[in-house]
Amino acid sequence: MENNDLIEKLTKRNNLSDDELKSILETNKYDESLRINADKIRREIYGDKVFVRGLIEFSNYCKNNCYYCGIRRDNKNTIRYRLTKEQILNCCDEGYNLGFRTFVLQSGEDLFYTDEVICDIISEIRNKYQECAITLSIGEKSKKSYQSYFEAGANRYLLRHETSSQEHYSKLHPREMSLENRKKCLFNLKEIGYQVGSGFMVGSPFQTTENIIEDLRFLQELKPDMIGIGPYITHKETPFANSNNGSVELTLRLLSILRLLFPKVLLPSTTALGTLHPQGRELGLKAGANVLMPNLSPVDVRKKYNIYDNKICTGEEAAQCRNCLERRVLSAGYKIVTDRGDVKK
Ligand code: SAH
Repeated sequence: MENNDLIEKLTKRNNLSDDELKSILETNKYDESLRINADKIRREIYGDKVFVRGLIEFSNYCKNNCYYCGIRRDNKNTIRYRLTKEQILNCCDEGYNLGFRTFVLQSGEDLFYTDEVICDIISEIRNKYQECAITLSIGEKSKKSYQSYFEAGANRYLLRHETSSQEHYSKLHPREMSLENRKKCLFNLKEIGYQVGSGFMVGSPFQTTENIIEDLRFLQELKPDMIGIGPYITHKETPFANSNNGSVELTLRLLSILRLLFPKVLLPSTTALGTLHPQGRELGLKAGANVLMPNLSPVDVRKKYNIYDNKICTGEEAAQCRNCLERRVLSAGYKIVTDRGDVKK
């Protein structure tokens, strides 16, 4: 089949075969029709609304050693930091005043924050901001821990599966980490009742088109509420210092494919996309994304959460970021709303 027919088939919600997906993923011409169809579906479901999440990167300590990540344990050149509960709450206060109704607490896997500490932070935010959603992105934990955070008031959890292929996973992570456990965590989170987000990096070292297709198949099995994808970006203090960045174009194409495969999903246009292209986030929205996750962390720690090189938005106050985003979103033809931004069921 011609690619145009494949895009038509995808838009009509007919499942494509692996070969058909491969043909769309590997085409070297930019498919404006793919983007237009994805945007049409996005507008049918979410209109021109863009949901924003205030991202609070509260610690860059990490016990893990993922080969691609700049805050990996073995990067001795990173200055480590931790935010106190008070600092985190201050970020929420500032965010609330700027119209954020979702707070995302993200960190490396930092055991300093025991379950008790995490629950205490969540309960305080929950008490103060009853109408807001609390999202966690703090890595792999036991089901019991996930349960306790949920009971303390967390509603959503982001845990990208990173890659769904066993072989590829073992090229990106040291032996002590396992894909099986990561997947198990995702299913546990769903069982508990979280709105779950998963996803993967586009163009991570050794990734093949077949790997990406496996990622899409895994997502079809998991049925997450949110899917986070962004281009892989090299960090110079990692074992992958000499690898290439992922492609902006392939990321955009995948955003459109994801919108067509999962019409109602919450799909962020990521900071990584904005890092590789000056209008990356606007292009992401136009390709089918409907969420932005601007940084709410205190400015003095932002540069330290350097998971990849040249990360944008590390120098401005939250309010400035918010205004800048407002303009960018309008220029792309959408509108930021003050809303929890739950997934449409
Ligand atoms: N510790 C948490 C949060 C990790 S940071 C967890 O394990 O879930 C959030 C995401 O950043 C990761 O899931 C990964 O997909 C992405 N990331 C890490 N290094 C990256 C890089 N070099 N380029 C692009 N994205 C990266």
